[in-house]
Amino acid sequence: MISELIARAYRLGCALLSPPRCFYCYVGIPVEKVFCAACQASIQPVVSLQLSVTKKRSITVHSVGVYQEPLRSLIMAKHWSDPCAAKALGRLIAKQSKELNVTFDCVVPVPLHWTRYASRGFNQARTIADVVAKEHGVPVMDIIKRKRMTEYQAKLAGSARVENVADCFELADERFVGMLRSCNVLLVDDLVTTGATVISVAKVFKTLGVASITCLSVARAV
Ligand SMILES: [Zn+2]
Repeated sequence: MISELIARAYRLGCALLSPPRCFYCYVGIPVEKVFCAACQASIQPVVSLQLSVTKKRSITVHSVGVYQEPLRSLIMAKHWSDPCAAKALGRLIAKQSKELNVTFDCVVPVPLHWTRYASRGFNQARTIADVVAKEHGVPVMDIIKRKRMTEYQAKLAGSARVENVADCFELADERFVGMLRSCNVLLVDDLVTTGATVISVAKVFKTLGVASITCLSVARAV
């Protein structure tokens, strides 16, 4: 209770010292917003994507909007290791999950290879997952790891992307197996392009008896 009051006072102090600004055009905005009304309205909605993981299982990928401005700048801020931008991405996904009424028991971030973690300082998807999980009162399960370094998906063409990430993820710890049974899993990432990475991560879950997997991303390249 006291820690919550201190956190609230801290946020208020920060807001007074540096008033919140639209992440794209920098006009003043209310503290809980990410973009001003005009930039928010300019986000191009995108239809949900249905991806086949196995013959029997498919997953739905919902995205806040198309990968173009103003979302693009916010996602690109990760290259300068901006945790504020990552938290803003989390707030956008949390808002969308509520609007779409997506139900889930845990949030799983798409993992970054440790060498990229080292150069970037943090995993943007993990920060997004933390924000979404806190908003819904569910745990983050950072349980998938990359087995090997892969090329940046953005540099590759469609079929090469599938090959690049095929079988490159695994469960970080076998002790999680029991915890995942009958869980509704929400997978989060900043950007989905062909969905090859999402499929590859979802395949790790296929033998674990999870009830469902849904993916939410901030943007989708179309
Ligand atoms: Zn704006």
